[in-house]
Amino acid sequence: MNYDVAVIGGGPGGYVAAIRAAQLGGKVLLIEKEAMGGVCLNRGCIPTKTLLKSAEKWEDLKRSPEFGLKAEGIGFDFGAILARKNAVVAQLRGGIEQLVKSNGIDVVRGAAVLTGPNRLEVDIRGSGKKETFEARKIIIATGSVPSSIPVPGRDLPGVITSDELLELDQVPRSMLVIGAGVVGIEFTAIMRSFGCEVTIVEMLPSILPSVDSDLVKRLGLILRKLGIKTLVGARVTAFAAAEDGVAVTVDTGKDIQEFHIEKVLIATGRRPVLEGLGLEAAGIAHDRSGIVVNERMETSIAGIYAIGDVTGRSMLAHVASTAGMVAAENAMGLSSLMEYNAVPACIFTTPEIATVGLTEQEALDGGYAVKVSKFNFAANGKAVSMGESDGLVKIVADANSGKVLGMHILGPHASDLIMEGALAIRNNLTARDIAHTIHPHPTLAETVMESAHGIDGDIIHQIKQKKRV
Ligand code: FAD
Repeated sequence: MNYDVAVIGGGPGGYVAAIRAAQLGGKVLLIEKEAMGGVCLNRGCIPTKTLLKSAEKWEDLKRSPEFGLKAEGIGFDFGAILARKNAVVAQLRGGIEQLVKSNGIDVVRGAAVLTGPNRLEVDIRGSGKKETFEARKIIIATGSVPSSIPVPGRDLPGVITSDELLELDQVPRSMLVIGAGVVGIEFTAIMRSFGCEVTIVEMLPSILPSVDSDLVKRLGLILRKLGIKTLVGARVTAFAAAEDGVAVTVDTGKDIQEFHIEKVLIATGRRPVLEGLGLEAAGIAHDRSGIVVNERMETSIAGIYAIGDVTGRSMLAHVASTAGMVAAENAMGLSSLMEYNAVPACIFTTPEIATVGLTEQEALDGGYAVKVSKFNFAANGKAVSMGESDGLVKIVADANSGKVLGMHILGPHASDLIMEGALAIRNNLTARDIAHTIHPHPTLAETVMESAHGIDGDIIHQIKQKKRV
């Protein structure tokens, strides 16, 4: 065998798996057909958050007078914003390449196919040559691509996915977003901030269907205030070329409406990359939703592991990286199990949304006696001083034990605050454990403490409602 471990795919799943296997003393091969860092770094998490940062700074600039500041002749240069996004991605990509090299990992550029239980063939990029490698263990981390929709006119140039939207050098005047999941809502926030008129069309009865309903209601109000039109329970039935972009036909369930739009973003989810990997020949169990794995991240064939988006479960970068470490440790002879009970998930809107654990409805459906507490950012000194007091922290706890079952935050820095909930859930902590931990003042973290107090007793900074006689 040439290698102890061969990893296919250099995304946040694959490159982390490769580093972990190398840390454990393995001789490791990492095969990547495009750019190191995968979707997360090149077409996902990082480019979107870099654009969002520019959008947030622009919003701040527009609010200058509110903070006693004078900003005259302000504006933005979308070309420069795009250039900064590309520079950030390039810097971080260089960092990963260095990290991989410094761990002594061999990198091969090209597309890999499984040709035997311990064998891979790689179509070496740009050379027209194929090379064969052998490894004791193989980790598949080929990720996912945007899924499409079977609607006539899908191939028109104005109908795009997140991949192409990230490369637009101008802000479209108008955009129709199909799918109100995380990707659709995040791009809505970014593009709306730069002056694009956004309409969202969602087939299900609500936006962000996996998010707790209290947060969804609050976000719905914020989107409406921003002038974003949201059609739920509606379906796009056709696209046609129009002089100024695309004519989109939407069946709203009540009537048929036609929209003339510059760009249409298809954000209806992602599908795992399974084609051309030799999965059938290798006998690796899979279906359309991904490669089947056990809690050791091992496939139906011993010694072959699969991690990240290609497994179709919790398509998030940090889940891919954690699964990568689990697979690498098992491949190197340790015994590690993947846990999914405390996976934080963030939606980078303004304000942010972050959730972990069970929603109130999921806890009720799971048979728990549920206690819920909500604390508004409007009663938090730091949030008010920042001028960002929209939102709430909702905690769902087991009424009998006080254990935290779920935490759901809409508000500034929700993506940082949620870690208190993740730590509590993973370690079976109670709301009391959070409430009685001293939180510094003035901080946004106090919102989590106050909400936890509400489970176990009384919230201090909450105006008492007068009792009805
Ligand atoms: P990927 O990142 O998809 O990497 C797979 C790699 O495998 C690719 O580089 C590909 O070129 C390579 N590959 C495929 N086939 C082969 C082959 N045969 N041979 C060699 N190489 C191959 N997640 C978050 O947690 N936070 C976010 O804020 C966030 N924002 C997102 C925003 C957008 C617009 C999108 C699209 C996604 C976002 N995600 C976010 C999701 C996140 O990007 C993915 O969950 C993550 O990238 C999955 O990592 P992975 O390693 O499984 O696969």
